[in-house]
Amino acid sequence: MGVQGEKKGIDLLGTGDCLHPCWRKNIEELDEESESIFSKGEMKFILTGEVETKDRVHHLLIFPSLSKVEELYVRLSHFSSNIDSDGRPRVELSGEELALMAKETGCLFGPAHAFTPYTALYGNHDSLFSAYGKYSKDIHFLELGLSADSSYANKISELHDLVYLSNSDAHSPFPYRLAREFNTMDLHELSFEGLKKLFQHKKGEVVRNVGLPPEEGKYNESACSSCYTHYSFEEAVARDWRCSCGGPIKKGVKDRIEELSDISKSAKDTPPYLHLIPLQEIIAKAVGHSSPTTKKVNEIWESLIDSLGDEVEVLCESPIEEIKEIVGSDIGDLITDFRKGNVEIRPGGGGRYGSILPKKENKSKAGQSSLGDF
Ligand SMILES: [Zn+2]
Ligand SMILES: [Zn+2]
Repeated sequence: MGVQGEKKGIDLLGTGDCLHPCWRKNIEELDEESESIFSKGEMKFILTGEVETKDRVHHLLIFPSLSKVEELYVRLSHFSSNIDSDGRPRVELSGEELALMAKETGCLFGPAHAFTPYTALYGNHDSLFSAYGKYSKDIHFLELGLSADSSYANKISELHDLVYLSNSDAHSPFPYRLAREFNTMDLHELSFEGLKKLFQHKKGEVVRNVGLPPEEGKYNESACSSCYTHYSFEEAVARDWRCSCGGPIKKGVKDRIEELSDISKSAKDTPPYLHLIPLQEIIAKAVGHSSPTTKKVNEIWESLIDSLGDEVEVLCESPIEEIKEIVGSDIGDLITDFRKGNVEIRPGGGGRYGSILPKKENKSKAGQSSLGDF
């Protein structure tokens, strides 16, 4: 995991699932840089975990130390039947009660993938107050999730004081999904305290968000979760959220945000948002492979990383001519398209991811292009 993180170009990676006792044993085997930062080789980790409350909302916690993880684990275990078996425990507490515990433990705390329809803040509530009650002012950040970017969140004014995070939410074992979204931060120090000061707007800032185009997310538009037919909001309402096939129409993030939007013109000034997909996905598209994990895709990925340093460098910074010299012009041109936002997207919905193809690509290939099941 450490080596993979370095090749991705990630300076600081969330451990994920740190409340889980077995995963915590793995964390304890890392080198301890400070109370809050652990390392393996060059790769540094900070303690993070997700918790589901009884209203089916997922929350992200960042911990100041392993002893604080242990402390919250003990408190939460009284309200959870799966804390020892599930990486993301479910607790019989409200968002307000969990926010208080997080505050008392000294954690950084905020809603995870805030807009997704099933297990998120705005999937189940209309406001921060509805979810967090009197602790709604103690929320430190908002995780945008894969189906939204800052321009979506800006439409809801109560979010304007929060730092927006574009995180990967990569619980799966596939390394190529690490850093499918990331944040470029100007941090006063690489530590829990550094992050805390950033979230409190005291020192440091997020200078860039990078992530999937929101249309790529699997809940972007309203669509049937059985047959994936897409519907406009008006059509879905007229049909009482029932598809002609009989299946339920799941309200998309885009429509949900329009429903909640209270901003007509004044937008918040947010860092630039660069829309990208993982390098292995780009390579797979360029060479015409349906999977991003084939031997050939891996070999090309390795050759780029060996020559240019890491994945973030290749995707965001390296001169395109250098990329073309190493792996040819098809991959170089595709990376250019992504950097310039010159891609055509068929939006996702109903639980199925969208598909992305470069504008110049022949339409007949469109049906074969898909980001897979994540
Ligand atoms: Zn979650
Ligand atoms: Zn249907």
